[in-house]
Amino acid sequence: MVEVCLLGCGGMMPLPHRRLAALLIRYKGRMILIDCGEGTQLSVRQAGWGFKAIDAVLFTHCHADHIAGLPGFLLTLGNAGRTEPLKLVGPKGLADVVRGLCVIAPNLPFDVQALELSEETSIQIGGVIVENLPMTHTVPCFAYSLYVPRSGRFDAERARLLGIPVSLWHRLQHGETITHAGKTYRPESVLGPQRRGIKITYCTDARPSRKLMLFCGGSDLLVCEGLYGENEKLSDAIEKKHMIFSEAAQVAKESGSRELWLTHYSPSLKVPEEYIHEAASVFPNSFCGYDLKTAAFRFSE
Ligand SMILES: [Zn+2]
Ligand SMILES: [Zn+2]
Repeated sequence: MVEVCLLGCGGMMPLPHRRLAALLIRYKGRMILIDCGEGTQLSVRQAGWGFKAIDAVLFTHCHADHIAGLPGFLLTLGNAGRTEPLKLVGPKGLADVVRGLCVIAPNLPFDVQALELSEETSIQIGGVIVENLPMTHTVPCFAYSLYVPRSGRFDAERARLLGIPVSLWHRLQHGETITHAGKTYRPESVLGPQRRGIKITYCTDARPSRKLMLFCGGSDLLVCEGLYGENEKLSDAIEKKHMIFSEAAQVAKESGSRELWLTHYSPSLKVPEEYIHEAASVFPNSFCGYDLKTAAFRFSE
């Protein structure tokens, strides 16, 4: 099971009733945070999942509404007694920005490691495979997909035929190769083909593209920006390198995603729900994201 909490749904600036866009993902008790604008630490607190188990923060890009909350967030982690290093991941330029922000968050009791990803890469954080795709925005910007793979079904009959002791089954099932009593047992000899995992994709501050649709392919959940709701604002969105609701819905539809949450609303968009039909008429399973919207995604096979 993968749990997702949309910490905030605002773009550009936090509002009294709308926090800045950030996403928290939890799998097997460990967490990954995406983006950390001003006040994100308050949203993390409100989500109630704690700070301690956050292994990494992924940054889509280095605009203030996505990263200015970092110093306060780091200080709060330090106050909570963190000593394990924290991984910060983002596009080129991240390390410099982090260095600057850390001037006002000195003497942290843990190491901060800034990892700049260049092109399309794949890294593993805990049991989650994180991939990035460069986007078209005014500065280097990434969309991220988080994929939790699922191994094939365990073939007990085959394990018995191969004479594998039952006490080793559990470890083989979890992908371990085991040497026992002079024999080596490999998981692939007792596991069926890989089953469908869970994929969560996050895309904000970007224009839609064919590449993005491929990248989002088959997402269980696509969290995608919709700066404006109404189709009439398309030219504004193009000029600012953002999307309107119906474009986000088009990405969801073309990519074969199962569910869409809209986020990163313009402060001028007071009631996003008034425009949900613009998205739903393109992709029926569209929903307006809201602060602390939470859902759990389970393996389907
Ligand atoms: Zn933004
Ligand atoms: Zn931006």
